[in-house]
Amino acid sequence: MRLEIDNLELLFLRQNWLWFWVWFLFLTIIFVWSEIQWLFLPTYESVSHSLPLLLPTTVFLCPLSPTLSSSSTLPLHAHSVSTLLPRAIAPSLSAPRPPSKPPLLQNVVIIGSGPAGYTAAIYAARANLKPVVFEGYQVGGVPGGQLMTTTEVENFPGFPDGITGPDLMDRMRRQAERWGAELFQEDVEHIDVRSNPFTIQSSEREVKCHSVIFATGATAKRLRLPREDEFWSRGISACAICDGASPLFKGQVLAVVGGGDTATEEAIYLTKYARHVHLLVRRDQLRASKAMQDSKFLVLAEISHGGSNCYLDCGSLCTNEQFVNYRECFRVYNNPNITLHFNTEAVDVVSNTKGQMSGILTRRIDTGEESVLEAKGLFYGIGHSPNSQLLQGQVELDSSGYVLVEEGTAKTSVEGVFAAGDVQDHEWRQAVTAAGSGCIAALSVERYLVRNDLLVEFHQPQTEEVKKELTDRDIQEGFDITLTKHKGQYALRKLYHESPRLICVLYTSPTCGPCRTLKPILSKVIDEFDQNVHFIEIDIEEDPEIAEAAGIMGTPCVQFFKNKEMLRTISGVKMKREYREFIEANK
Ligand SMILES: Cc1cc2nc3c(=O)[nH]c(=O)nc-3n(C[C@H](O)[C@H](O)[C@H](O)COP(=O)(O)OP(=O)(O)OC[C@H]3O[C@@H](n4cnc5c(N)ncnc54)[C@H](O)[C@@H]3O)c2cc1C
Repeated sequence: MRLEIDNLELLFLRQNWLWFWVWFLFLTIIFVWSEIQWLFLPTYESVSHSLPLLLPTTVFLCPLSPTLSSSSTLPLHAHSVSTLLPRAIAPSLSAPRPPSKPPLLQNVVIIGSGPAGYTAAIYAARANLKPVVFEGYQVGGVPGGQLMTTTEVENFPGFPDGITGPDLMDRMRRQAERWGAELFQEDVEHIDVRSNPFTIQSSEREVKCHSVIFATGATAKRLRLPREDEFWSRGISACAICDGASPLFKGQVLAVVGGGDTATEEAIYLTKYARHVHLLVRRDQLRASKAMQDSKFLVLAEISHGGSNCYLDCGSLCTNEQFVNYRECFRVYNNPNITLHFNTEAVDVVSNTKGQMSGILTRRIDTGEESVLEAKGLFYGIGHSPNSQLLQGQVELDSSGYVLVEEGTAKTSVEGVFAAGDVQDHEWRQAVTAAGSGCIAALSVERYLVRNDLLVEFHQPQTEEVKKELTDRDIQEGFDITLTKHKGQYALRKLYHESPRLICVLYTSPTCGPCRTLKPILSKVIDEFDQNVHFIEIDIEEDPEIAEAAGIMGTPCVQFFKNKEMLRTISGVKMKREYREFIEANK
């Protein structure tokens, strides 16, 4: 019996050792496997995949043998899991993913930065398409589009108290940027959409892409008067809201050309600053605004005017057949500071002996009679033409140059090319309709890429901390000549007399959209020449005397001074390299 027991114990012991060696071998294989996997796949996912295998194995083994539980295998596994986790999980949970590099071939390029372009950018960026946006610079208007030239926008949803055009566009831009759109303030100079991938060539780079959203909007038309170039920004302007407040025009007699909404809006706006405004209208009536063509509106207009009606207020012009814009008509007719000249066109501008603009040569359409109208400024309010030149010969356009899209969609005649906003809309032309069509275009792009198996998703890297700009308060708190950037006339006077550096003065006005475009551009150029140049911003409404003394006729305007001498004046928004080259040559 004892022997039997001894034999059994021996058998049990032998079997135990056998189990020991089997488990030892098994554990060694598991350990080696997990370490190898860690070496080759050091990500959270790889560890989380190995965890189900590692943890039950170690847990399962512990109670099996007291020998094993005290062996180094368990602590080793525990160690490898606990050290793997922080190393592997940390990068994906707490630290940002490394920024995804833009591919050589882009999902989508958006051309234009009005409400249509920015809305398309917001939607495409949120769909992780990482859109490349060419915001434009000069060719088809300023970045931000047409609303950069207007003051209050009262009808864009979400702003019950109204918002200025430049503020609205600033917000749209920031929203697009926040979601990862890549923005370039460059004009697109050439595109090729004859074969996919498409080629987009800007002033500074070439991009290949699978799809394009064309949102280039429309541009203010010019009259092409013989002396237009000579007096452009020195008396002639296409933006009353940008230039109306400049000292050149304040208290002067001015003229506006055009008979539509733009012209009447500009004429009314200019009465805030001018002594008198003449409105030159080629036809024998003011052009009707589309909304006002609804006869119901005319009835409403009559009622809202306390019983007196449009015909009485506006005389013979306001007939039902002519569908006159009641409100504008009323405001123009009842404004003692505006004189309407029907059947009249501008032929040229005339100047005085000092070479300053002094009047407008006008011609009566009906009689051909010419005369000179005294005026120090001429503002164009004659409408816009679609910026579709880049697509000519590649995508179908209508007879006026508007891009043809399939009804209710953003699809053009070329697959993968979409159009949004005023460039494809000659009827509604509103910020909100442009934004809506930008949304349609971006969603269509996403579907197109998915359908053709072309979509590459990008995940947004964490945003970098933005360098803090100097606030007005910072600036007011003290003038320090060692600083490069300044604001206001006090700084200008100090620097003019005391600084040995090249001085760059930027004249702006609060309602000037292009000024907002130029400011960050110029600021970046100035940063390149820090300590070699001084930069001062002058708001011409805050410091009108300085602007007058400097002969500023419109904003934005840049002047360079050195050793109390004025070296150069640059009006409007110019290419970055023009400012850079001038500073480089004169620093
Ligand atoms: C004075 C004024 C007041 C207005 N007020 C209102 C209002 O109160 N409410 C309202 O709803 N609408 C208003 N509108 C109309 C509204 O501004 C337009 O309908 C709207 O801006 C159209 O948007 P968009 O995106 O199609 O084009 P746009 O705003 O015209 O923008 C076009 C963009 O394309 C860019 N671009 C052009 N060519 C190129 C190129 N080759 N390369 C790169 N970029 C290029 C331009 O730089 C610009 O950024 C107003 C318009 C004007 C002129």
